[in-house]
Amino acid sequence: MKSRASVPNSQFDLLLVPGLGRLLQWRHARSLLQIPVLIVSVAMIVHGLFGPTLAPKNLATTLTWVHFRGALVLVLLAAGNFFCLACPFMLVRNAARRLFQPRLNWPRALRNKWISVALFALILFTYELFDLWASPLWTAVLIVAYFLAVLVVDGFFKHASFCKFVCPIGQFNFIASTVSPLEIKVRRQSVCNVCATKDCIRGRREAASPFVVTQRGCELALFQPHKVGNMDCTFCLDCIHACPHDNVGILSRVPASELMTDPRRSGIGFFSRRKDIGALALVFTFGALVNAFGMVSPVYALEAWIGTRLNVHSEAPVLAVIFGFFLLVEPVVLLGVAAWITRTWAGSKRAIVPLALRYSYGLVPIGFGVWLAHYGFHFLTGLFTFIPVTQSALARIDWPILGEPNWSLTGLPRNLAQPVELGFLLLGLAGSLLVTYHLAEGDVHERPYRAFTPWAAVCLILFASAVWLMLQPMEMRGTFMNMGG
Ligand code: SF4
Ligand code: SF4
Repeated sequence: MKSRASVPNSQFDLLLVPGLGRLLQWRHARSLLQIPVLIVSVAMIVHGLFGPTLAPKNLATTLTWVHFRGALVLVLLAAGNFFCLACPFMLVRNAARRLFQPRLNWPRALRNKWISVALFALILFTYELFDLWASPLWTAVLIVAYFLAVLVVDGFFKHASFCKFVCPIGQFNFIASTVSPLEIKVRRQSVCNVCATKDCIRGRREAASPFVVTQRGCELALFQPHKVGNMDCTFCLDCIHACPHDNVGILSRVPASELMTDPRRSGIGFFSRRKDIGALALVFTFGALVNAFGMVSPVYALEAWIGTRLNVHSEAPVLAVIFGFFLLVEPVVLLGVAAWITRTWAGSKRAIVPLALRYSYGLVPIGFGVWLAHYGFHFLTGLFTFIPVTQSALARIDWPILGEPNWSLTGLPRNLAQPVELGFLLLGLAGSLLVTYHLAEGDVHERPYRAFTPWAAVCLILFASAVWLMLQPMEMRGTFMNMGG
C-alpha cells in the first residue's frame, strides 16, 4: 500500500472525497467510465446509420449536438477535462494496442498544434457547410471516422500522438480546461525532489523484467513536478496510478490562473513562445462566435449578400469568406491594433507579434463564456429530448421497455435559458478582464492601466458581439422546437 503525501491545507483534493476518491484511484476507473460511453457511441452510430433521418428523432444528432456538447462545457466549467478521461476512442485504441504495438515516433516537425488547429477550424466549417446538426447519417459517419483516425494515428505512432497533436476535441478540452477549477498536480514538491524513480513519467515496471511496464507513465510527456496547469492533460489518471508515493492529486486552484503566468511548462515550454497554442486560443475564442453566428437569422442575409457579390451559387465559397473574415481578418485586426496601442501608448517593450501572442491567452475565458452560452442554451432547452428519442429507438427494435415516446418532453423554456446564457457571458468577460489585467501588470509595471485598456476594449467587443448574437432569432438545432422554422 502506498503512503499518501499530505495535501496543502488550502487545497481541495478530489481524490480525498470519500468513495469518489477511492473509485478514481481504482486501477480500472477509466475503463469504468469509458465502457458506458463506448456503448452509447455504438448506439449513436447504429441509430445514425439506420435510424430515422429526422435529426430530432435520432440518437446520433440529439446526443452529439445537444447533450454531449452541453455536458462537455458544463463539466469543464465545474471541474475539469473529465470527458477526455471517459474518452471511448482511447478504450478502443488501448484494446487495439494489445494486438499491434506502434513503432514510430511522431515526426519532430509536427510536434505542435498546427494540424489540430486546422482540423478544429475545418470541423467548424464542415459543420456549417453540411448542416451536420441536421444529418444523423453524416454525424454517425463523423463518429466512425474519428474512431478510424485514432486507430490509424495511434496504430503507427507511439505514446498519445493523436491526443496531443491531432484531436480537435482534445484541443478544445485542453484550452477550455485552462479555466477549470481542478488540476492534476503534485501534492508536495518536496516529495518529488527526493523521488528516485520518477514513475509518473517513466511508468512502473516489473522488478524482475524492467522492460515490462505494469503501469503507464504520462503518455502526453507531462512530468508532474514541472507540469503547470491543464494544457495537454487528458485527466487519464496514469500519473496518479504510477506515482509510488501517492503524491499526485486532483487539486483545486484559481480558475484561469495558469493563463496569467508564463513559467516553463513540462511538455509544452513557454506559452509566450508557442504561436501554435496562441492560434488555438484564437480559433477557440473567435470560433465560438462564428459557430454561434451560423445559427442566427442574419447569417442568411449575409450569405445571400456575399453570394451576390461573388456571383456564386454554392455555399462553400461564401462560407469560406465568412470563416476567413471571422477567424483570420477579425483577430488579426483586433489584436494587431490592441498590440500596437499597448506598445506605443503604454510603452510595452515587446514587439507586436509576441505582444499579441501573449495577450491572446487572455481571451480564452470570454471565448469559453461564448461556448458555454451557446452549448448551454441548446443543452438546457433540449435537456429531456434524449428520453423520447431513446424510447423511440427501443420501440423500433421491438423492445419498448421505456414505453411509448413522449415527444412533449423537451427542456427549459427559452426565457429561462437566456438569463443563464447571459450569466455565462458575464462570467467569461470577468475572467478575460482579470487575466488581461494581470498580463498588463506583468508587461508594463508602471502603467498597467494603459496596457490593459486596449485589451479590455477587445474583450468588450467580443462580449457585445456575443450578447447581440444571443438576442437574435435562433435555430433550435437538434430539437423539435426547430420544426416551426
Ligand atoms: S513519481 Fe513523479 S509525482 Fe510521484 S513523487 Fe516521483 S516525481 Fe513526484
Ligand atoms: S498522466 Fe499525463 S495526461 Fe494523464 S492525468 Fe497525468 S499529467 Fe494528465
